[in-house]
Amino acid sequence: MTIKERFQQIEEKIQKACERSGRKREDVILLAASKTQPIEKIIQAYQCGIRFFGENRVQEGIEKIEKLKDYPDIHWHLIGGLQTNKVKYAVKYFEMIHSVDRKELVDEIEKRASKVGKIQEGLIEVNFGEESKFGVKEENLKDLFEYILLKQHVKILGLMAIPPYFENPEDVRPYFRRLRLLKENLEKEFKVNLPHLSMGMSHDFEVAIEEGATIVRIGTALFGERK
Ligand SMILES: *Cc1c(COP(=O)(O)O)cnc(C)c1O
Repeated sequence: MTIKERFQQIEEKIQKACERSGRKREDVILLAASKTQPIEKIIQAYQCGIRFFGENRVQEGIEKIEKLKDYPDIHWHLIGGLQTNKVKYAVKYFEMIHSVDRKELVDEIEKRASKVGKIQEGLIEVNFGEESKFGVKEENLKDLFEYILLKQHVKILGLMAIPPYFENPEDVRPYFRRLRLLKENLEKEFKVNLPHLSMGMSHDFEVAIEEGATIVRIGTALFGERK
């Protein structure tokens, strides 16, 4: 199957999931998780109309961003875990960081963003257990959020998670629901608006949309198996 055919299938599934849950298609961003994918495939995805791309590693991302300078309307997101010593480059190149998960990282983002006069958008990554080594534990989420509220150059727009993998996507639903609830709790407690929930990947994005995802991060279903 071509990327275009895969894209059309995904698009149809996104639309149906939106209809089922009474949501508007334009409220869900299809972000192409392009790690390990060559430039040509990214361009093919762009030609399908995709404008959001997520990279996992800062260095790999920067190389692609540099090569795709002629596509200035691409929104580049960093979706993989971020080491403190890479923050300088992440802030320079990425519009949004999905993996804000500790105070030390927040301090470094604040420092680097203030230096270049940027307000860095980010999501807090929540760790629901074994699956990801990144992310803040649920019990520390509030404390981290409160800490970031005091920073002038870091703007948190919502939450992100990589829930455990289940063969049956229905089994992931409680995790998606939980992430939405955590977001709503923060909104109530701190009287803020958090527009984004980054959740759902190739095998479970339809369930994620039903549970309120605003960004679905899709790799394999769009590009095929990674090499
Ligand atoms: C690779 C990756 C994805 C996409 O995974 P697929 O299962 O290939 O859709 C989404 N989010 C993150 C953080 C990833 O690393």
